[in-house]
Amino acid sequence: ASFAELGLSRLTLAALKTVNYRVPSPIQAAFIPPALEGRDVIGQAKTGTGKTAAFSLPLIEMHEPGQPGPQAIILAPTRELVQQICGEFERLARGRDLVVRGIYGGEPIERQLRSLAKGVDVVVGTPGRVIDHLQRGTMSLEGVYHVVLDEADRMLDIGFRPDIERILRKVPQPHQTLLLSATLSPEVRRLAARYMHEPVELNL
Ligand code: AMP
Repeated sequence: ASFAELGLSRLTLAALKTVNYRVPSPIQAAFIPPALEGRDVIGQAKTGTGKTAAFSLPLIEMHEPGQPGPQAIILAPTRELVQQICGEFERLARGRDLVVRGIYGGEPIERQLRSLAKGVDVVVGTPGRVIDHLQRGTMSLEGVYHVVLDEADRMLDIGFRPDIERILRKVPQPHQTLLLSATLSPEVRRLAARYMHEPVELNL
């Protein structure tokens, strides 16, 4: 399949050209169509498979300009991964009026407060720091429609389950949940069973 056949817009196809992604990877070819339909999707995928673009491209396509943000929240286990996702997301969202912000420990919270106050469309964050902002009232999930749990198995291993569950419970219904994980351990499956709605499961 080509990216055009996956149902992506011309603006996105142009961005893909600038980053020189010519052919979708297997996870991208399988993940993007059901995600664009609004389905919940579980993707078993390791780093290096192109999983970041697999969940970022549908979010970019489904972004609704002018709506209060954040419209999407992406949770990831570490600051490094958050920064990586932000970079990839921004490159793929080229040409769009779409603000992405990383939220993680280790950066002065005041800087994050100022960005959040100006308005962001997509938050990429570690669960702990996201909870911190929710408690301070400096970020609201009221406009969130898309949630991504990236490297879900690693987040659970680190002990983020309570934080993840608190965040998921604050996202208004209905919403779309996309989950990516290198392994579909019993813990990951339990999280999916509790918080996802008739997910499409892809093992690649
Ligand atoms: P990820 O698994 O998301 O960490 O991606 C691994 C690497 O593959 C990153 O450097 C991406 O920029 C790159 N990449 C992702 N999708 C494609 C694609 N369709 N064609 C070429 N490179 C890609």
